[in-house]
Order: sequence, then structure tokens, then C-alpha cells
Amino acid sequence: MQANELNLQQAHKDLRAKKISAQELVDACLEAIKKKDKKLSAFLHVFESEARELAKRADEKISRGQEIGLLEGMPIAVKDNILYAGHVCTAGSKILENYNAVYDAAVVAKLKQAGAIILGKTNMDEFAMGSSTENSAFGATKNPWDMKRVPGGSSGGSAAAVAADMCLAALGTDTGGSVRQPAALCGVVGLKPTYGRVSRYGLIAMASSLDQAGPVAKTVQDAAWLLRAIEGLDAKDSTSVNTESISTEFPQDIKNMKIGVPKQFFTSGLNSGVEKTVRQAIAKLEELGAKIIDIELPHAEYALAVYYIIMPSEVSSNLSRYDGVRYGKREKGKDLIDVYKNTRAKNLGPEVRRRVMLGAHALSSGYYEAYYGRAQRVRTKICQDFKDAFTKVDCIVGPTTPTTAFKIGEKCDDPLTMYLSDIYTVSANVAGIPAISIPAGLSGGLPVGLQFMGNYFDEKTILQIANTFELATEHHKKKPEI
Ligand code: GLN
Repeated sequence: MQANELNLQQAHKDLRAKKISAQELVDACLEAIKKKDKKLSAFLHVFESEARELAKRADEKISRGQEIGLLEGMPIAVKDNILYAGHVCTAGSKILENYNAVYDAAVVAKLKQAGAIILGKTNMDEFAMGSSTENSAFGATKNPWDMKRVPGGSSGGSAAAVAADMCLAALGTDTGGSVRQPAALCGVVGLKPTYGRVSRYGLIAMASSLDQAGPVAKTVQDAAWLLRAIEGLDAKDSTSVNTESISTEFPQDIKNMKIGVPKQFFTSGLNSGVEKTVRQAIAKLEELGAKIIDIELPHAEYALAVYYIIMPSEVSSNLSRYDGVRYGKREKGKDLIDVYKNTRAKNLGPEVRRRVMLGAHALSSGYYEAYYGRAQRVRTKICQDFKDAFTKVDCIVGPTTPTTAFKIGEKCDDPLTMYLSDIYTVSANVAGIPAISIPAGLSGGLPVGLQFMGNYFDEKTILQIANTFELATEHHKKKPEI
């Protein structure tokens, strides 16, 4: 096995045993990037010499016999909407093409503190709006399982980079599914934490009441290690919460745990191959001792509609800062309004403009109550559905996505079909609960994701169940040939 193919846990063990060095880890990843990323385009920027230098320092620390943290010397990729001081941060948009971050996002500061090496920044849909990475202003990322297919999105670069072993793990952001959906389509693990567990300080905001950064990893255990490193209360994000840290060790036992299967997640849009794989996984959970219980989430069918009102409303407000004056590129114009218009028309892509317009409409006087106000009330009902469900079950299971990876170009002209890829992931964001996607097997040679959703701040339970399932199966060991 090559060093870049290790997961965090294996690499950490080898590093401590001095069987491998941080420099070897970084070199192997850089080598893999050179070999594969011309085809995949998962990275927008790679910090080669800097990563080598940091690896050298990590090795010196280890050779001095200093105690090392779980992420010390680990080459990790970061989605390009997360600020890394002194490095370019584009959010996949032309408007931020030359923007240099002046401070570290809280999650980056924490990764650095934990000794991780930030290897590069990964490709994404512009401002995290999309489900395929095709909305990046810098070209689409390919799925390592099939180059003709999308890796999912918006954190498609992070998921492809982890799946193709170009880094040991990565960070993404998840507003409506952007960590879990690409993780599912690329056959890796993706975790969206409870809203508030991880600070949003230094993330380029998409929809502030939904955004959370989360790990993309090769195993559930690795995802837990990363979450442990990035979580925690932060005075710079008033929505971050002081809560018990997650444990990085969980019992390998799910006997008598109650797992709910919502009937609303097995509807007509679900591809039959995906359904079969997910049903087999559920049978496996039962075999492992869990109690499978049919449940109802009566308002789940409205989650996507609610999301597509609240998200664009927040988008239109958050993106108003890119006006050619305060941030980003500026185009010429005959007066101020003309500068705004030219700057935004020339440098924001069609999907971003579509959402800004939708949001501005939903928030406009006369319509606000009918759209935004109403969506917020239905949101409360969706939260209540989950609260009710978690009085009966320990976690909820279902598919992460309705289909496996689709073809590049297939859904570009039809935003509604594209939006439907998020049908099973958005409810966790709308409600603010944690959710994880893990590999459940292949259908037609392509990965299928299994999603576990947990109660507020109860990442522990979904990690325990996902980890037990993972260790009892071989699905996470299957790798794309690239
Ligand atoms: N695909 C969803 C969207 O387009 C989710 C995006 C995200 O989570 N950032 O809005």
C-alpha cells in the first residue's frame, strides 16, 4: 500500500511507530496529485513547497520525541470556500479569482493547531451552489469511479480528492447536502455536524442558518477524528454552541439500538439499484442486532421547497457584498449602479444569479410573508417531526441520494432535476441535525451512500452505528481504479 492510500488512523499509527514520515505522506499525495489530477481536476490550488516544509517540521517534532496529536503531519485538503490566511480563496467564482484570505477560518486554525498540513484547496460549485461541481467557474471535477460522471457537489473536489487518495482526508461545507452527497457519489464518508457544533467563522457564507463545515474521510473513525479537531465554541461565531466534545472512540455494538426508516425516504424518485443497496444495508443493521422501526416524517416532503426559499433568501443577502466595491473584482461602469451591474453580471455565474434573484423576490415587500415567513413556519414543523421521531428511535437511516453519480452535462439545463439530488439531504440542514453518509456498496459499478441522521448534538450515536456497520462490511475498502 502506498502512503497516500492510508487513512488517518493507519497513518498516525505508522507515524508514531516511525514506520513512515510526514514527508513521505506529503510526497506520496503530491505524487498522486501529479498523476491523477490532470484528469480529475479536484484541486484548484496545491501548496507543494509549503506542504513539504510543514512535513519536515512535523518530522523534526516527532524525532525530538515530542507528543503528537491525532492529525500531526497529515496532508489534508480544504474546500476553496474556507479561508486559509495568505492563500487564494475563490469559492469557485470568478468574482473572487484573485482574492487572498487575510485570516484563517476557525476550522483551518484548528486544523493547523492539531498539526495537520493543508495540502491544497479543492474545487467546488460556485459559492457552494450546486450538486455536481459543474457550476465551478474553473471547470468541472470528474468522478474517480467514472470520468464521464460528476463527483457530486458542491464539495465535489474534496470528495474526489479523498476517493482518489490524493490526500488523507478533506474538509467540505454542507448547506443542503454538499458534504454528504459528493461523499455518497464518490464512495467515501461525509459528515455534516449539528448546526452550531463547528464554528462558521471564515467560511464564505452561502446560507448562514444552514451552513456547516464537515469532514470528508476514508473511514467513519477518521471523520470522527477530524470533527473532534474542528468542533467547539467560538466567540467569533455567535451561533456556535458550547457542548460536550465528541468522543473519538465508540463501542462496536448496536444491539437493541432503534433505527428508524422513514417511509418518505423511499418514494418514486428513488432509483431501484440505490434502493436495493440501501435495503440490503438496513438488513445488515438488523443482523447486527439493531431494531428496525418504520417511522413517519410527515413534513419531509416539504423540506426541499422550504430549502429553496430560505437558502436563496440568505444567499441574496450574503452575496450582496460582492458589489465591486467591498469585495472581489470590479468592472467599469458609467455610475455606481452600472459598476454593480457590470461586476455582478460578468463575474457571477448563471446559477448564482438565479438564486440571488429568487431570494430577492422571496424577501421583497409584499411577498416576504407568503414565501420566507411561510417557509420558516414549515421549517419549525420539520424540526418538530425530527424531535418526535427521536423520542422513538436512536437514529434515522435512508439513502443519501436518489441516484448514483450522473453523467457530466446531464442535468445542467434543468435546475429542478439538479435540485432533486438533494431531496434526502436537505432536511438535516433545515432542521439543524447531524447526518453522515457512508459507503453502502455499489450499484452498476458506482458507489451508493447510506445516510444516518441523529438527534441534535448526538453525533456520537450516528458515528457508533456507522462505524459498527463499516467494520462489519467491506464497502469502504472498494476503491476506484484510476
Ligand atoms: N446542492 C445543494 C444546493 O445546490 C446544496 C449545496 C450545499 O450544501 N452547499 O444548494
